[in-house]
Formats: sequence, structure tokens, C-alpha cells
Amino acid sequence: MSDTVLVYRGEEIAAYGFGDPHPFGTDRHDVFHSELDKAGLAEFIDYGHPRPATVDELALFHSADYIDKVSRLSVAGKGWLDDGDTPAVPGIYDAASSVVGAVLCAVDEVMHGNYKRAFVPIAGLHHAARDRAAGFCVFNDCAIAVEYLRRQFGIKRIAYVDIDAHHGDGVFYGFEEDPDLIFADIHEDGRYLYPGTGAAEETGKGKARGSKLNIPLASGADDADFHRVWVQVEEYLAAAKPEFIIMQCGADSLEGDPITHLRWTEEAHAAAAASLCRLAGTYSDGRIIGTGGGGYNRRNVARAWTRVVQSFVETH
Ligand SMILES: [Zn+2]
Repeated sequence: MSDTVLVYRGEEIAAYGFGDPHPFGTDRHDVFHSELDKAGLAEFIDYGHPRPATVDELALFHSADYIDKVSRLSVAGKGWLDDGDTPAVPGIYDAASSVVGAVLCAVDEVMHGNYKRAFVPIAGLHHAARDRAAGFCVFNDCAIAVEYLRRQFGIKRIAYVDIDAHHGDGVFYGFEEDPDLIFADIHEDGRYLYPGTGAAEETGKGKARGSKLNIPLASGADDADFHRVWVQVEEYLAAAKPEFIIMQCGADSLEGDPITHLRWTEEAHAAAAASLCRLAGTYSDGRIIGTGGGGYNRRNVARAWTRVVQSFVETH
């Protein structure tokens, strides 16, 4: 008997993307959901439908000026939201706001006790900073979820765990001086990959110094390397005792991604998700949400995210 897992789908979040030939296309949602449909998990999954986030919810993390800028450029539908990675395609405000809204819906459902585990594809837009877009990310749904959990539910000790090939710089620097944001991030070494940050020496600043875990891996690192360092993440989380876990499971850490250089298989994602479910069971009353994150090889996106959902279903 498995607990039912809540998975989000809908054209509102599928619309988040930047069109051909941008690597973050709008086909990623459907590629994942068609793979999930074939996984034989239907009886263990409920589907949730996204809603847009309100301006006040976006403002839990982002500046008013930046939210206004995205709104204006989304109507204009041309130009860039950053220095050349994230185009201002028409309607991007609504799509980005729906991704945030889906994550906040997932948080509500978990906190109200309707589900223990929820997954939101397309979310996990971890590069967006408080006052700017970056690296295909417009609104930082994970960072907003942290502030929302604190504001709406009084949850203080939240763990953010990121296995995307890229460093989750938007979350890291957004909470660099906050000792209550528990942060663990395995990524390709910033000397070889965007955004260039996330050295092991970056452990937080001020009263948060020493409180965060960055684990850079060499280009070409494989599943054995993942498992070797994952032990550190488990020990770190066990010591930190989070009240809620947010996972960012970017599929661009799998072999064959066109813009990164790690060589994991989807079994790393399955193992990480299972491990986090067990840690959530011990420390967080079972509460965990998964967000899809990056991934630009469509087969990898479909398989890695599906394996995460499978671990959410099967882990006891
Ligand atoms: Zn990435």
C-alpha cells in the first residue's frame, strides 16, 4: 500500500519555455508526462492543476521593480530578461507565475496533510535572483516556496536539496546569510559550467557561515561519484533536521545532456529521491516536494523525473 503522490500538470506550466531553438523548449512538460503515463504508476498518482501566483506571492522573494519589468516585457514579447540567456517571449509572465503557483499549491496540499509527497515538473527555476532573471529562470519558485512556508505555516527550518548539474545560485545567494535555510547542492564544478559558483568553500556568510553544503564534481563524474558524495548530503541533513524538504532534480546531470558534462544515469535521481523521502519521514513528518529543474536532453528529462516520482511512490 503506497501513499498517493500528487503530480502537477497543465498547459499553464507547459507553456513555460522559450521556443525553438532555445534548449528550454515548451515540449518538456509533455515529454515527461507521456513517460510517466507509461510507468504503470497511475493508481498511485493524483494530478494537480496549477494556478497563477499572485503578485504578493512573487514579492515574497522578488523585488517589485523586477516583477514589474517581467510583466512589461512579457506583454512586449521581445528582448531579454537578462543578458542573453532568457528571452522575453510573449506571455512569459503568466507561464512563470503559473510555475510558482503550482509549487505553492503543492506546498499547501502537503502542509494541509492531503499528501506527503508532491512533484512539479518545469519548476525548480533555481537561477533567478531577487531582482533579476538568469539562466532560463524567471521567477524562483523554490525560493518563493521557502518564504511562503515561513509566512503561511510558520515552518522555519527548510531544506533545499539540488542535484541539477548547475549550481542553484539564485537560492544560495538569496539565503546566503540565513542559517535556517538548509542548503545542499551537488553540481558540476563552476570552473567548467555556468553559473561558475558553488565552490566547496562557499558555506554561507555572517551568522550562516558554515551552515551550507556545496559539492562541486569534476566534469565527467558518474553514478559512483554521485553515490560517494551523496553520503555527505545525508549526514548533513540528518544533523540539520529539516521540517520540510524541497528537492530540485534537474535532469541535466545525466549523460547526454547537450549543455553540461556530468555522466550520471537516472538511477542517481531515483536514489536521491528515495533517500530524501526516508529523511523526510524521519525529520519532516514525511513532507517533501520535488521540482523538475533543468535538463535539455528530452529522453533524460522524461526518465529522470519519472524515476523521481516512482521513488516518491515506492519509498516507505
Ligand atoms: Zn541545470
